Formats: sequence, C-alpha cells, structure tokens
Amino acid sequence: MGESDGTSSTAAPGAADERRLGERRFEIADGIWRIPVPTGFASGDVNLYWFEGPDPILVDTGVLGDRSLSVLSDALAEGGRRIEDVRTLLLTHSHVDHAANAWRIREVSGCQVMIRRRAVRRLSDIDAIAEAETPGLLAFLARCGFSDDNVAKFSGFSRVIRKISHACPGLIGIDDGDVVRGAGGRTIRVHARPGHSSSDLVYEVEGAGVLLTGDHVLPTITPNPTMEASEPGDAQPYRALPSYRDSLGMTATMHCNVVGPGHGMPFGDLAGRCRTILALQDRRLKDVRRIVGDRGPMTPKDLSLALFGRVRMWDVYLTLSEVRGAMDVLEMDGTLIVDRDGPVDRVSIA
Ligand SMILES: [Zn+2]
Repeated sequence: MGESDGTSSTAAPGAADERRLGERRFEIADGIWRIPVPTGFASGDVNLYWFEGPDPILVDTGVLGDRSLSVLSDALAEGGRRIEDVRTLLLTHSHVDHAANAWRIREVSGCQVMIRRRAVRRLSDIDAIAEAETPGLLAFLARCGFSDDNVAKFSGFSRVIRKISHACPGLIGIDDGDVVRGAGGRTIRVHARPGHSSSDLVYEVEGAGVLLTGDHVLPTITPNPTMEASEPGDAQPYRALPSYRDSLGMTATMHCNVVGPGHGMPFGDLAGRCRTILALQDRRLKDVRRIVGDRGPMTPKDLSLALFGRVRMWDVYLTLSEVRGAMDVLEMDGTLIVDRDGPVDRVSIA
C-alpha cells in the first residue's frame, strides 16, 4: 500500500532533456533508458530504468502481473533487449508499483535482486507479515477514533495486500553507503532516504550526473509519508514524516544534472524540488496546528476529516499517514500534545 496520495499536485519543475527512442523508451543519459509502465493506480505510469551494458541493470518492476511484464518486454525488444538479459534488479522501495513483479523478473532472468536491508524481511514474506500486522493496524484505527464497525472493515487488510503483492525470495540487502557495480563497469552509489517508505533508496550514477529518486522526490506529486510498523531491531518507532524531512534536507545538497523519478518526467532542479516538497509539508503542518487550535482537543480521525473530508476506504490509510506524520513532527517539536490515556487518542495544542 502507500501510493502517493496525489492530494497536493504542483507545477512540474523544468523538465530535463530526454531522447525518445521508442514508444515507451526514453534515453535520459548515455545508455540509460526510462521505460514508463502502466499501473492502473491514480499515480499513473511508474518509471523503470534500464542501464545498457554487457550485464544490464534494471531499476524497479511495475505492478504485479503479466501486463507490466509485457510492456517492459516490448519496450526492451525495441532496443534489442530481453528481460532475460537483466543481471541486477535494483528496487527503490518495497511499494507494489515498484517491487511487486520482482519475483517474476527474477524467475525469467535469474538476476540478483537488491532492496534496502530493512525491507528484505517484509518482501520475503509479505503474506505472513501483513497477517501478523493486522491486529496492530486495527488497534491503531480504534485509537484514532474509528467505530468498531469501521475498524472491522479493515480486518481484510492482509487479503487486499496479498492480491496486489508477491514475495520475492533470495533478496540481497543493501544500504546507505553501498556501491553497486554493473552495466559495463558503471558505479552506482546507494543513499538511504527513508520517509515516503522506510525502505526508500536513491541511486546516484557516478560520472553520469544522474540520480534515480524512486518516490522520494517526484516532480509533480507530494509523496505520502506512508506509515509503517517498526521493524524488529529498530531502536525507536519508525516515524515517517520526521524521517522524510531529514532525508529531503540531505537530498537537497546532492548534485546531479538529471533526476529520474519513479513517476513523471525527468527534471533538473533537485534542490528546488526538495525545497518545494518541504514547503508543502510546512503548509500542511500549519493547517494541522490551526485546526487543532480552533477545534481541539480532537481525535486523529476528526483531524483527518477536517483536512481531507471523507475518503474511500483504502485512502484512509494514506490520509491517516498524513495526519500521523504531522502529529509526529508537531509532538516532537512541542507544538502538540497527544493524550493517550483513554481508549481513543486526543490531540491538543501544547
Ligand atoms: Zn511508493
């Protein structure tokens, strides 16, 4: 789960040059192709990236299923390539539009598959983990102020996850500071950028001036700070939005000519886009402060209603992620107090 929520779209930053090589194949830098693949989600196509060389690298997979695979296969065929040629599959994060077909690509090609180390457990056994985490999710919804009836609607959460995702065995864990080599001797530096998901990595292609950002930095969508349960061994509970803001601060200092995002067109002004996303987050934090100041103390559910109105069932996860993220930032900086003594949490101004 955890598509970008699409609630705050902004004008696209200046698009970077790319050369059209085929119907769904664009060269963003020498030997690096962007291949947009349909997802069926509101976020639209997801970008996969192909690195040419005797030992090609593919970045991300598209959603689960044959359609993703055949669109990728057709785009590669135009360039004289096949999925069987992939030697290394790098995943930007564990979300379904980026990682759910990893097992198929691995099955077809026998490639090595790499993802941020903390997501190896999750992507190796999605079903069992979704099942195990459901009671915690239901308890969280109840604490947010949802009625028993509404909470019960989420008891099938793991079934929904199972329909759209697929475990991938034999993953290789990578993390901040690692270097991946391939595609004819290229060097790709790995940087951890948790926030949109806890598994977000960005890939810096040495000597090419290219940074692949996955969903960490997108050109027109403010990515959702998707809430996640903590992983065993986490020193502190994972807090999506505070992590995200730290990550954006680090990315804003990086240098590259072309940003290849997970969705949308490549662009150039990385620092500017990071600042815009931070400013949009600031605006939402300000809204939360104002609403709680006017109407508090209030439940997280009522705060979500005040911010977003009523949303379709599964979008509750995304809107609550936004609310939870804002609460984390504002509780940490001393602006809000969250009273957790009763059965339902109540948020008020400090
Ligand atoms: Zn994502």
